[in-house]
Amino acid sequence: MKKDRMDHIAQAFAAQKAGVGRRRLEFGLAARRRALADLHAILKRREAEIIAAIAADFGKPEVEVILTEILPVSQEIRAARRHLRRWMRTRRVMPGIATFGTSARIRYEARGTALIISPWNYPFNLALGPLVSCLAAGNSAILKPSEMTPATSELIASIVAECFPADLVTVINGDKEVATALLELPFDHIFFTGSPAVGSIVMAAAAKNLSSVSLELGGKSPAVIGPGADLKQAADWVTFGKFTNAGQTCIAPDHLFVHDSIRDEFVAILRARISRAYGEGGKSPFLARIVNAGHATRLRGLLSDASAKGARTIMGEAGQGNDMPPTLIEAITPEMQIDHQEIFGPILPIFSFCDPDAVIARINSRPKPLSLYIFERNRGFADHIIESTSSGSVGINLTMLQFSHGGLPFGGVNHSGMGAAHGEFGFRAFSHQRAILSNRFSALPVLFAPYGRRVKWLVGVVKRLLG
Ligand code: NAD
Repeated sequence: MKKDRMDHIAQAFAAQKAGVGRRRLEFGLAARRRALADLHAILKRREAEIIAAIAADFGKPEVEVILTEILPVSQEIRAARRHLRRWMRTRRVMPGIATFGTSARIRYEARGTALIISPWNYPFNLALGPLVSCLAAGNSAILKPSEMTPATSELIASIVAECFPADLVTVINGDKEVATALLELPFDHIFFTGSPAVGSIVMAAAAKNLSSVSLELGGKSPAVIGPGADLKQAADWVTFGKFTNAGQTCIAPDHLFVHDSIRDEFVAILRARISRAYGEGGKSPFLARIVNAGHATRLRGLLSDASAKGARTIMGEAGQGNDMPPTLIEAITPEMQIDHQEIFGPILPIFSFCDPDAVIARINSRPKPLSLYIFERNRGFADHIIESTSSGSVGINLTMLQFSHGGLPFGGVNHSGMGAAHGEFGFRAFSHQRAILSNRFSALPVLFAPYGRRVKWLVGVVKRLLG
């Protein structure tokens, strides 16, 4: 990387670091709420630009931009402004026997200076959503949006520059070279959203500086359609979850397990539902494009590898350029790449099953998914799958909506991530819980050295009481 670019990164970081002490005193409840209100006002004013930028980057329909990019950030801002006083409140903790005579409290403090690295698939939401939590917790941030959505990333830089001083928030755009240079700096917290492969690079880099990390990663999220599912409901939500953003969603159902007894009926209903949403073929104005030629080639590669190894296409065709229609395939085997790689596009493999325990065994043999979806009217069926598996989140008789519930933690587990985002969970991710214990009338000094007979006798009493 050019020297002036390196210098720019180093200066941006140094400016934010220099302000940490001052921010601890001055960036309190009122200032944070004001900063968030300013951001909200600018987002409202520049909404048309946001819609245009994301359309330019990958043809995302306006309705989807409003519902999945702008509103989630507005909701995050509203929740933070409304609840911040409570989130920030110092919590008192009762003393135990050993700490009798002290008073204890937990103080939620800014970690300091954060690095936020975001992906291209929800380029606006996943850059600014974490920024809201970061500011709510009183930190400064350097934000590195994705290079794959250049129009949106430029717009984010312009919005941030209009809204915040550079020593509070700075956007540094660029590719992985820029991200690598940023990751060398000793940030107090790194909030990364992206693929598991890059997540482990980020974690290794963070380890060098012992920076704390939140990793919001991806993977293959399964959906199970049980024998007692409401098939129309399942088809509606699977279509929404899989083809919104053309399947380029971390929590999209990656593949389906459909019970044998309802398989044919469900597939017929699903096909009809997809056709109603996106037409019978050709380009639909309601379907986003694949983000770039590289990803379109990757997806077609997955399809041709699968069909060369015996997969059958139920619905769909190759499409042209970066446009790809909804595609359903079956007869998937473990030799196929599509059975292992996160699909991240409008291709939906369908497996059938008789025994739910076989599905459970298969889920448990793979990396823990970000989300697990279960469609079934019988609660016992869903509960059995939930209790026997692990995933970042679970959706029952719905897809994706768990992202929008501000009271739920959003995050993965191991391969699908660590830490949680959204609302109070996002605030906590960017906060340090500082334990403060203050002495009022602790009797502990009676046990201090020298350890004479009286101390030994008292230790015996203490042991009987506490041991
Ligand atoms: P990615 O990991 O390729 O890139 C994410 C960010 O990391 C980008 O800003 C990129 O510039 C940067 N980056 C790329 N290579 C890097 C490297 N070697 N070192 C440091 N930084 C690097 O992910 P993507 O393709 O933009 O997004 C898709 C992935 O993100 C999918 O796996 C998806 O499931 C996941 N995702 C997860 C969530 C979530 O909330 N859990 C949300 C959206 C996407």
